[in-house]
Amino acid sequence: MKYHVLILLSAIFLSSFAQIQRCSTDEYVDFLKSKGSYNYHTHRINTNTNDNYNYNGNYNIPVVVHVLYNTNDQNISDERIFSQIETLNNDYNASNIELADVPEEFQDVIGNVGFNFFLAQEDINGSPFSGINRVYTEVDSFLGFSDDMKKSNQGGVDPWSTDCFLNIWVCNLSGNTLGFATMPDVVSDDLDGVVIDYEFFGIDLSSSSAYNLGKTGTHEIGHYFDLEHPFNGGCSDWDGCSDTPSISSPTYGCPSYPQSSCQTNNMSMNFMDYTDDACMSMFTICQAEKMQSALLNYRSGLIDCGVSLDGYVNPLNLIYPNPV
Ligand code: ZN
Ligand code: CA
Repeated sequence: MKYHVLILLSAIFLSSFAQIQRCSTDEYVDFLKSKGSYNYHTHRINTNTNDNYNYNGNYNIPVVVHVLYNTNDQNISDERIFSQIETLNNDYNASNIELADVPEEFQDVIGNVGFNFFLAQEDINGSPFSGINRVYTEVDSFLGFSDDMKKSNQGGVDPWSTDCFLNIWVCNLSGNTLGFATMPDVVSDDLDGVVIDYEFFGIDLSSSSAYNLGKTGTHEIGHYFDLEHPFNGGCSDWDGCSDTPSISSPTYGCPSYPQSSCQTNNMSMNFMDYTDDACMSMFTICQAEKMQSALLNYRSGLIDCGVSLDGYVNPLNLIYPNPV
């Protein structure tokens, strides 16, 4: 009897470790609250009118990628980083190939965010830079949601001006965590940005993971621009977007359409749900509007600091041809 209990307990123990943590943004918020450093904000943009939506939005977002590596594997290639930027630019301009798979029911609400991400070609002093900041660390893995990777004195690397740059830390995260992000205004400037595990950053066709197509980046940057998970409030409209159908729980894997909950068909192909990378394909119009509003109202430094695009070559069509 004891033996069976032991086996059962170790099975639970092992399966809890094997389970992937698709996104730990919500857990990171709890972590901030527990240490009293969560900045409760009331600005949350909550609109379904689409009054402010710019269908021809064309906003350039300068990016700094901090690659924190302890092993050679963790020191991912330039090409992997370019493939992440390419994925973002397809996904945020409604030109990703997966859009062809969106069911007819949801075609009318596909949103074009209109953000172009580019690797910063100069630092804040105007000196030439690649946009990729490679830093060796003695730390072999960082806790799945913590702040250490953002602090030089903890084996991480301090951000560049979080007003002017989208800071992305790529590092080895423990606990099978894929990534997490800070929503606008919820943390102090020195912690603001996106963290993604090195295995799930960019496109890696040699990987057998279901998360190898760069969609973790797309999802986490959605949070960075104020998007919520559509499933957080169960069947209530938690995310403030009536064009994302309420869904009772996260969707994993790659379900066939239609699947339903909360009396509607699930939009499981939304970038803010939890499906496999190959099965995520769209933001909605409301989500695009929220992100544009977040950029203009809370992250305007990204466009106002005047980080120059000069010398930047958009690394498109590296791996996937752009269908548009
Ligand atoms: Zn998330
Ligand atoms: Ca909704």
